[in-house]
Amino acid sequence: MSKIDLKTESRRYRERYLEMPTIPLQSGITYGPVRSRRLGWSLGLNISPISYKFCSFNCVYCQYGGTTICTINTSDWREDFPALDDFEKALESALREHKDEEINNITFSGNGEPTLHPQFEELVDIAKKLQRKYFPEAKLGVLSNSSTVTMEKVRRALAKLDFRIMKLDTGGPETFRKINRPCPGVDYEAILNGLKSLENVTLQTMFIDGAISNIGEQEVSEWLERVGEIKPVKAQIYSLHRPTATTSLGEVSAEKLEEIAAQTEEATGVTVEVIIASSPYRRRYNEPYRK
Ligand code: SF4
Repeated sequence: MSKIDLKTESRRYRERYLEMPTIPLQSGITYGPVRSRRLGWSLGLNISPISYKFCSFNCVYCQYGGTTICTINTSDWREDFPALDDFEKALESALREHKDEEINNITFSGNGEPTLHPQFEELVDIAKKLQRKYFPEAKLGVLSNSSTVTMEKVRRALAKLDFRIMKLDTGGPETFRKINRPCPGVDYEAILNGLKSLENVTLQTMFIDGAISNIGEQEVSEWLERVGEIKPVKAQIYSLHRPTATTSLGEVSAEKLEEIAAQTEEATGVTVEVIIASSPYRRRYNEPYRK
């Protein structure tokens, strides 16, 4: 299928199946600093296309709604990703603008999976240079969905960062396909092996309930087994706090998250942080930043 056909088809799919409005895509290369649930004051770096959602996953809970182009192969869309020069100018300008403010972290995240940028490693080098110049105390890191963790160039880039927060929502391929809805070519076992061989990794896991769930006894037990195999520095677990791509999902209570955390720590010895955020979309809990 040609590029235009794919885009048209994806748009039709989105119009037909997207069930509720989600939050708009980031419109620029930098955003914030925002008070993040996990990262304190974080300047966000969006290196994905801005006019449509490009990702290797189409997670049922995605705050940006359905993925327009779901692929791990960026070759047909290279021109839609920000160029190195534009990235450098935008980041330097943002760092100058906020130089008197508190920035704890500078984080590659944004509209989709940041490591899909064809020049992710070069962008990391630029960001590192500017972070050292303007915010030497801040940490530079990434929030990634882990789909590219086996790619050599991505692994080199990940190794240059101060932190790597990598997604693992499920303990097996079946729930992975239901929740993260990966594009063809993304393999659960390959991700698992990639994560196991990565140094100093932090895992991030979204627990959800409702029509699709990963909090059943078996799902949790499989997930914590994988955590034990990967042996991350820590795992961060949380639940919904924003509108999602699928309306039939439910938030997991803080009590249940605490229970999963305790069970995992006991079984694996890995520290588990329960992240509970206050948000305009959350009604049941309002603790700003916890544990
Ligand atoms: S990996 Fe992140 S950006 Fe991509 S669909 Fe999932 S939640 Fe959305």
